[in-house]
Amino acid sequence: MRRELSPDQAALVAEVDAVLDALPAGAGPQEAFRRLGAARLLAVHFPVEYGGRGLDLAHHAAASERIGLRGLPDVAQLITVQGVGCAILAFGTEAQRRRWLPEIASGRLLASLLLSEAGAGSDLTRVETTGTADGDGWLVSGRKTWSLLTDLSAIALCSARTRRSESRYDGISLFLVDLSAPGVRVEPVARASGEPYYTVTLDRVRVGPEAVLGEPHRGWALLPTVIGFERGGFDYLTRARAWRDAAAAELAALPDSEREVLAADFVRREFAVENARAVAYHAVATADGLELDETVTAYAKLGTGLAAQSLVRWAAEELLAVPGADGPGGSRSVLRAAVAEAPELTVSGGAQELQLDLIAGEFAIGRTIR
Ligand SMILES: Cc1cc2nc3c(=O)[nH]c(=O)nc-3n(C[C@H](O)[C@H](O)[C@H](O)COP(=O)(O)OP(=O)(O)OC[C@H]3O[C@@H](n4cnc5c(N)ncnc54)[C@H](O)[C@@H]3O)c2cc1C
Repeated sequence: MRRELSPDQAALVAEVDAVLDALPAGAGPQEAFRRLGAARLLAVHFPVEYGGRGLDLAHHAAASERIGLRGLPDVAQLITVQGVGCAILAFGTEAQRRRWLPEIASGRLLASLLLSEAGAGSDLTRVETTGTADGDGWLVSGRKTWSLLTDLSAIALCSARTRRSESRYDGISLFLVDLSAPGVRVEPVARASGEPYYTVTLDRVRVGPEAVLGEPHRGWALLPTVIGFERGGFDYLTRARAWRDAAAAELAALPDSEREVLAADFVRREFAVENARAVAYHAVATADGLELDETVTAYAKLGTGLAAQSLVRWAAEELLAVPGADGPGGSRSVLRAAVAEAPELTVSGGAQELQLDLIAGEFAIGRTIR
């Protein structure tokens, strides 16, 4: 199944290309994000008054996919615009929306997610970071792991346990933390490939009532929206499509006889990526406003991650095993980096077992997916 963009979505993609084509030589990602923001292309699904265009999530997916395909770090879109921005849009007060959304949509402000901890990854109810009442606010203390973009971010959405309760889903609050506040320490963690991770230590970081997103203690209910779009797998798709292009270049460089033997295997994996992309677009097309169906996104996440991994595994075994030098487009280097990065695709945003549990859980209660 191949998923074509609608004419409107294709027009947005052309706008993204026009902005990026006009970038001065040597401009970095931050300049690119600012220009895309100035053209209102970073968050087209935000209302106009907050710097968007009032379009739906499927249009945002098309623009965002293109931004990733053009080689810009797609985590910026995924984490800042989707993770933090959409959470503020959906659950923030009017003051929080006015304070943060125009900055996010303009590409001037990056924001990160501080959800994962050493013992709390797929299961975010295991959060050990605490928020202790302090006057009209809280003192937040704990250690967050695997955070991306943190060194460039001004704020972060951080989960903390603010009360103990019989239900592990109760008592979690989400705070918008100023990363320059006293008590915040951000340390990089070495990574084989891709954007660096950061460990963030919070030591009695004071947050006021204006920093709480949604109701105190009831943050759990907000998390599906925070990580919903990530579960659509769009960042995996941009990687999968870049890796597919690299594999195609390697294949094209083989002698005819060897290429013919491998061509069918390649096309099968290419189809798997396109099929997964169709599911990812189905997930955003069936969203209810900003809310995505958990089961469809679990399929999208699994499908995109597994399709990308299968492509890379095959390319490593069949193409990288053949001795040869890197071509002009650097396809060998791209595939070698992919070998290091691909395993993360069934871990980030909740391990694959979690996605399978979500799918199984929905079927167990007999609900029909949209
Ligand atoms: C590229 C990348 C970017 C990330 N960015 C961020 C970020 O910006 N902010 C942030 O807060 N976090 C981030 N994370 C963390 C990410 O959300 C977690 O890695 C993810 O949720 C998995 O948690 P974990 O690493 O603790 O592993 P776990 O979930 O603890 O999994 C450990 C092992 O247990 C298995 N497992 C998990 N659940 C089950 C189950 N129900 N049944 C059976 N087996 C299971 C897994 O397959 C795995 O082998 C990022 C991770 C990656 C890889």
